Amino acid sequence: MRIARTLAELDDATARLRQAKGSLALVPTMGALHAGHDALLARARAECGGVAASVFINPTQFDRSADFARYPRDEPGDLATLQEAGCDLAWVPSPAVMYPPGDATSVLVGGPASGWEDEHRPGHFRGMATVVAKLLGQVRPDVAIFGEKDWQQLQIVTRMAADLHLGARILGVPTVREPDGLAMSSRNRFLSPVERLTAPLLHGVLAEAASDLASGDDAARLLAKASARLAQAGLAVDYLALVDGQSLRPLDRRREGARLIAAARLGGVRLLDNVPA
Ligand code: AMP
Repeated sequence: MRIARTLAELDDATARLRQAKGSLALVPTMGALHAGHDALLARARAECGGVAASVFINPTQFDRSADFARYPRDEPGDLATLQEAGCDLAWVPSPAVMYPPGDATSVLVGGPASGWEDEHRPGHFRGMATVVAKLLGQVRPDVAIFGEKDWQQLQIVTRMAADLHLGARILGVPTVREPDGLAMSSRNRFLSPVERLTAPLLHGVLAEAASDLASGDDAARLLAKASARLAQAGLAVDYLALVDGQSLRPLDRRREGARLIAAARLGGVRLLDNVPA
């Protein structure tokens, strides 16, 4: 596995990879890799001859500096994981490479970027879309792989790649979960043992609500009941909603392509999850 830290190293590595392997997939990450990232890398290997992964903790997508400061960092561990997963190229730029002096451009997506996460993390999607646009421009992959765990993010990236003709096919991979249903996340390590026992309830409640919706229950009543159950268990619900899976607009009843999305705070950790509805 090659490790590129400058744009010159990246250009050389991607040119060689494309020549040797034909096509190139990119898996963007912020490191602290877990089995969820492994699933993205496996999909990348299935889609393309060459696999690149980026590891960059993007400062501009953190709405709180304390969250950025404590975000887990383990570069040697991440590089070992990528190598083991059969990755051909690790792209590990510094903030100065990603945002050079004079950098003055950001990407503001409308449509699916409105509401939900955007309301609770102002500026987050602007930072995320900007760094993903930069990564796609730097690596120029045929395919870029994202997790369904961050459902709104996946829809935003899909929209942006189409609108800006970025050239990469955007693919989503189903959420990888712990045996008790909790969606894997780099931030789960900050849950206390007691919070860790409570956390899977978010997925449990979403899965139950999805099955009740499928049997025709009224959405508004059901969502209120689901939120109340989470609140009772100590989860502070930011939102729990039935939305159109692509536009993220709220729905008052289930229909093809609908999604149940939720975010809730448990202690100092914000949990995010979604299921098809
Ligand atoms: P992160 O490193 O947390 O920024 O995530 C990098 C990519 O991995 C994003 O596309 C995430 O949606 C995806 N991802 C994170 N957790 C999971 C998971 N549990 N299952 C599937 N994909 C995930």
